[in-house]
Amino acid sequence: TLLQPTSPAAGDEPLPYQDPTQPTDVRVADLLGRMTLAEKIGQMTQAERVDIDADPSLITENRLGSVLSGGGSVPADNTPEGWADMVDRYQEAALATPLGIPLLYGVDSVHGHSNLLGATVFPHNIGLGATRDPALVEEIAHITAMETRATGPQWAFAPCVCVARDDRWGRTYESFGETPRLVISMETAIDGLQGKPGQLDRPDRVLASAKHFAGDGLTAWDTGEGDYTVDQGISQVSREEFEKLALSPYVPAVKEHHVGSIMPSFSSVDWTEDGLGNPVKMHASEELITGWLKGEQEFEGFVISDWRAIRQIPGTYAEKVEASVNAGVDMFMEPIQAPNNPTGWDEFIPTLTQLVEDGDVSMARIDDAVSRILTAKFELGLFENPMTDRTHLGKVGSKAHHQVARRAAAQSQVLLRNKQGTLPLKAKQDVYVAGSNADNIGNQAGGWTLTWQGGSTNVIPGTTILDGIEKAANGDVVFSEKATKQVPRKSVGVVVVGETPYAEGFGDVGGPQWAYDPGDNGVPRPEQTMELSDADTKAVEKVCARTVSCTVLVVSGRPMVIPPALLRQTDALVASWLPGSEGAGVADVLYGRRPFTGKLPVTWPRTVDQEPINVGDADYDPLYPYGFGLRTR
Ligand code: BGC
Repeated sequence: TLLQPTSPAAGDEPLPYQDPTQPTDVRVADLLGRMTLAEKIGQMTQAERVDIDADPSLITENRLGSVLSGGGSVPADNTPEGWADMVDRYQEAALATPLGIPLLYGVDSVHGHSNLLGATVFPHNIGLGATRDPALVEEIAHITAMETRATGPQWAFAPCVCVARDDRWGRTYESFGETPRLVISMETAIDGLQGKPGQLDRPDRVLASAKHFAGDGLTAWDTGEGDYTVDQGISQVSREEFEKLALSPYVPAVKEHHVGSIMPSFSSVDWTEDGLGNPVKMHASEELITGWLKGEQEFEGFVISDWRAIRQIPGTYAEKVEASVNAGVDMFMEPIQAPNNPTGWDEFIPTLTQLVEDGDVSMARIDDAVSRILTAKFELGLFENPMTDRTHLGKVGSKAHHQVARRAAAQSQVLLRNKQGTLPLKAKQDVYVAGSNADNIGNQAGGWTLTWQGGSTNVIPGTTILDGIEKAANGDVVFSEKATKQVPRKSVGVVVVGETPYAEGFGDVGGPQWAYDPGDNGVPRPEQTMELSDADTKAVEKVCARTVSCTVLVVSGRPMVIPPALLRQTDALVASWLPGSEGAGVADVLYGRRPFTGKLPVTWPRTVDQEPINVGDADYDPLYPYGFGLRTR
């Protein structure tokens, strides 16, 4: 029978795994030697907070190793204290197990700790790619880590190191850009989250997760099944191209930045087959996860599966689990338990147990997975300090953090056209402001903000672009979203057009993955394309016809099509991306308080039909090339 320690009484010698003076590998080996199979499999299991919130003793009973907040899964009290209290409540349940192994809590802090109301919300990665400023990206990631850890979670599912090749992809904005070189340069985000090696136990650092391994940004538009994808589809590129565009970011992520965890992609590759003629889902790719990542690249962290992603592997549930564990996945994000879903982690645990008992999964594989997970927990200092260290709680959403977000918003702006020095605007000019995104923080912030899909109605603290203009302008400011109000004589026009929020895309699990722009609740919105809405187009036409100069800002997660006739009417054009909560930062560059310095992180096409279009293509004929961006002083 296995040793079951009880908590050492005062004065007792701590067990080796409880002794912080012991090296981590000694502690891991000691603890592993004391664990039952149930405890090991529990460590490999991640539930969702909705699974356990009503009854955290499920953590204790099932020996769960990890819990996550999926996008928008927030405590009823969505405040810094509410979060910290929630995570601590779950942590107490984990510590009540015989071995007292602490819980690891993960969250999608992809542009700040953006599920938390009041957290600082930064521009999405596409805008950060435009800054070409790795130091800024590191600073932002550090603030994100601080705001996340101070409120409980010790793990961020970030950064996305995808190379986005087709702007129709609903996750383009989670990418730093279309070239591996640019993405790699921004992997300072990992340093910002984790700190230097040995700093993970600090109250301002979290474990990072590079995602989605690999080729998430390469999936093809046309699957052969119809005119859809590109999320969760097939990367239809050669092995050589795959190495260059999909695998290359993981080399420095592992070797230079020591990323602690990696999340496989929902997508598949078609240059290997699973024996049944199916393209291999990344979660089942032993060749890439165990062979390439853990073998060739010597990745020592752990692999966390994406949300119920193993269900897209062909076969019975047992076959899916077997394939993914044996491919090298270490921890399984298997939400959500009944009644919210038919199955979940409560199915995963007995299934994996049976596979081990039948010899289909080796004990060595289980021990490897658990050792990797425990190593992270020791490095995070969770055995010494399992409860939330609230030292930095008061800094969540602080003025200083908002200032960094404002500077980032300014630096992310890309000036694409500037006829006769239209920009910067002069403070004394009267301004007429229009467009769907002029006065909408939710649209500025995009997806993964308070909720999974984000929302136009989200109210998060911050400033809209209109607010910023109103502060910066000394003259009169008139706002009319659809440009229905009369345009006063001699004013300058600013029309802020663009998209409404969305996040990723999905279809029936196992079925064809359409994923272009998911609508609310997973209903596809195929009508949402890279084209401007009629209302925005009309607003541009009206304002540009009547003002002395007109500037068009595009607030969107990717380039949008600007038809030639419309472009001719505009005097200045700015790619604003998804600047986050600080519209004032956009106004800073409009008014010349800061120069325009941003450069396109992706190619800006003339038409949707040009997609996918990327620098280096034969017959490259975009509206604005990759890297383009005018400067102002
Ligand atoms: C996404 C991941 C995310 C996870 C947890 C998945 O749907 O693909 O990027 O980290 O959900 O919210």
